[in-house]
Amino acid sequence: MTPGRHRADAPDDALPLPAGAGSVAEWTDRYTHAVMDTFGPPQRVLVRGEGPYVWDADGRRYLDLLGGIAVNSLGHAHPTLTAAVSAQLGTLGHVSNFFASPTQIALAERLLALAGAPGGSRVFLTNSGTEANEAAFKLLRRHSDGARPRVLALEGGFHGRSMGALALTHKPAYRAPFEPLPGGVEFLPFGDTEALEAAFAEGGDQVAGLVVEPLQGEAGVRALPPGYLARARELTRAHGALLVLDEVQSGMGRTGRWFAYQHPHLGGGVVPDVVTVAKGLGGGFPVGGLIAFGPDVASLLSRGQHGTTFGGNPVAAAAALATIGVIERDGLLAHVTALGERLRARLAATGNPLVREVRGEGLLIAVELAAPVAVRVAADALDAGIVVNPCTPTTLRIAPPYVLTDEQAQPFVDFVAALPPEPVEETP
Ligand SMILES: *Cc1c(COP(=O)(O)O)cnc(C)c1O
Repeated sequence: MTPGRHRADAPDDALPLPAGAGSVAEWTDRYTHAVMDTFGPPQRVLVRGEGPYVWDADGRRYLDLLGGIAVNSLGHAHPTLTAAVSAQLGTLGHVSNFFASPTQIALAERLLALAGAPGGSRVFLTNSGTEANEAAFKLLRRHSDGARPRVLALEGGFHGRSMGALALTHKPAYRAPFEPLPGGVEFLPFGDTEALEAAFAEGGDQVAGLVVEPLQGEAGVRALPPGYLARARELTRAHGALLVLDEVQSGMGRTGRWFAYQHPHLGGGVVPDVVTVAKGLGGGFPVGGLIAFGPDVASLLSRGQHGTTFGGNPVAAAAALATIGVIERDGLLAHVTALGERLRARLAATGNPLVREVRGEGLLIAVELAAPVAVRVAADALDAGIVVNPCTPTTLRIAPPYVLTDEQAQPFVDFVAALPPEPVEETP
C-alpha cells in the first residue's frame, strides 16, 4: 500500500477493499476454500442491504425477515446508525480499558435506565452475547465467594458457544464435542415449576443462580409459562441465589418492550439480578453487555477479575446509542408491538392447514408447522426472495427489522398462505 492511501481524502478507488466482482457461485467457491466450515455452505453471498432488503452477488433482492438473527433492528444501512458509526470512527475509534470514553459511559447509563435498574447497579460491556453470558457465569462463580457450586439452567436454553456459555446451553450436539465443560450446571425441564421447586428443595443454598431466557429464541420462540419467572424470583431470593435473564435475543425492543421481562405476562413484575444483552443492541454492530442490578451484584466481579480489549469500544457504544436513539425517536417499540400483533393475526388468518400455530411477542415470531418440513419451506422461501429461519424441524422463525411495514411484510403472508397444504415428508 502506498503511504497516505489510508487517508480519508483518498479517492474511493484507493480503498484497500477485497478484490473482485463475482457471481454467487464464484464467491461461494472462494468461501469454501478460505472460510472454516463451521456454518455449512452459505445460502447466498450478500453484497448490499437497505431497510428490510438485502441483495445477493447476482443482483437478486430478498426481503430479510431474519434480520441477521434478531440483530438488524433498524434494518440495513440505516442512515442515522451509519452516520453515528462513521462520525465516532472518525473521531476516536478505539481506546483500551485503561481509558474510558463518553460513548461507553453514556451507553452504560442508558442500559441501566432502560432496564429500570436500582441505584448502585453497573454494566459490563462486551462484544457479543456469548461474552455477556460468560461474564454472567463468572459473576455467579464469585457469588458467595465461590461457595455455591450449583448453577441452574433450562432445557432448550441457548446461551452461546464459548466454553462457559456453552456449559449453560442445553443442546447435547453443541456440548458433547467439547466436554469437559465448566461444571456445576444442572438442566431443568422447560417451564416446569415443580421441577424448579424440587431443585431448590434440596441443596438450595448451594445454588449460585438460575439462568433463563424469558422467551427462548433458538428453541423456537417459546415463552416461559405465566408465573414461572415470579416463582423463580421467590425461590432464588429465598435461597440467596441470583436470577440471571438472558435477553440477548429478546431484549432491546425485540418484543415491543426494551426487555421481555418488562411484559407483565412474560416477566410477572420480576426484578432480576442480572440481564444480558447483545444481538439487537448495536443494530448490526457487534456489541453486548451485562447489567448487574444493585451494588451487591454489581461488585461481584472486582478489579482484575474480568476484562476485554474491545468491550466498551467507542464505535460499538456509538452504534448502540444511535440504535436506542432511533427506536425512541421513531416510536419503534409501539410499532413493533402493533405490527407484530397484525402480522401474527394475518399469518394465522391464512388458514393454511400446514400452519399449526403462530406465536411470539412483538417481532420475534414463530410459525409452527404441522410437519417437520421447516428446512425445505425456508429454502423455498429463499428461492421466492424471502429470508426466514428454520430454527427447529417444525418451526419457522422471523425476527425482522423494527422499521418493517405491513406492505413490506405482505409477501411472506402470501407465501405462507400459498404453502402446499399436504407437504411431502422430509427425507432425513
Ligand atoms: C444468540 C444468543 C446468544 C449468543 O450470542 P452471540 O452473540 O452469538 O455470542 C446467547 N443467548 C441467546 C438467548 C441468544 O439468542
